[in-house]
Amino acid sequence: MKEKLYTIELHDALTSGDECPFCYLERDLEQKAIEFVLGSSYMESDTRDRTDRQGFCRRHTKMMYDYGNSLGNAWILKTRLRYLREGLKKQTAGFQPSAPSGLARLMGRTQEKTPVGSWVEQEESHCYICGRVEDTCRRVMDTFLYQVKHEKDFMDLVRGSKGFCIHHFGQLVDACARGLGQSEQEQVLPVLFEQMNRELERIQEDIDWLIEKYDYRNKDKDWRTSQDAVQRTMQKITGGYPADPVFRDRK
Ligand SMILES: [Zn+2]
Ligand SMILES: [Zn+2]
Repeated sequence: MKEKLYTIELHDALTSGDECPFCYLERDLEQKAIEFVLGSSYMESDTRDRTDRQGFCRRHTKMMYDYGNSLGNAWILKTRLRYLREGLKKQTAGFQPSAPSGLARLMGRTQEKTPVGSWVEQEESHCYICGRVEDTCRRVMDTFLYQVKHEKDFMDLVRGSKGFCIHHFGQLVDACARGLGQSEQEQVLPVLFEQMNRELERIQEDIDWLIEKYDYRNKDKDWRTSQDAVQRTMQKITGGYPADPVFRDRK
């Protein structure tokens, strides 16, 4: 089956005026995933089987708490906890204490992983919401490449946008290296690099001017575009929307 292309969504994100079209789409995907998991789907056995096994990262656990629906959260937690208890029982039953090896101590490696520590780390390395969001984000990246190849005006659309956050820019460059031929890369990457440097310079000017504005000599001067520069610079550096209100169940 051919994978869905996110052409319209990508077009909307690129023309939204946002600091990063991928952050823009990711926010929507993340909220929809929270709505999905705490909507009616938590009573469906295949979804619950996945949430039992994959669990949730700290960020998404907090989002689920904030979203509301105590009963839905309780059902999800009930069987996830049971799943973790079984795993933990197995790990602790076979645990053999041992003295740190002389070599490890010699090399300053005093933080050797125990099987229990490794099991916890493994359980923390996946999240049902992250998984859903990353899967779709990957397809959005594929759509970006598809558009580069098949839509001749697409790069004009990209040029007219505000570029990307550094987090997603790294992913985009990797996706270009994987999915575009050498001559396509030679056309596209210089455009992206030039744009990214220009847009980061713009953000730098915004954050610099915000600081300048606190100087009493500038108090009557115009804010220009720096009034919300803190959250936009945060987004540009790490991705996401630090100024967003808490996402809650509106039903
Ligand atoms: Zn981003
Ligand atoms: Zn997560």
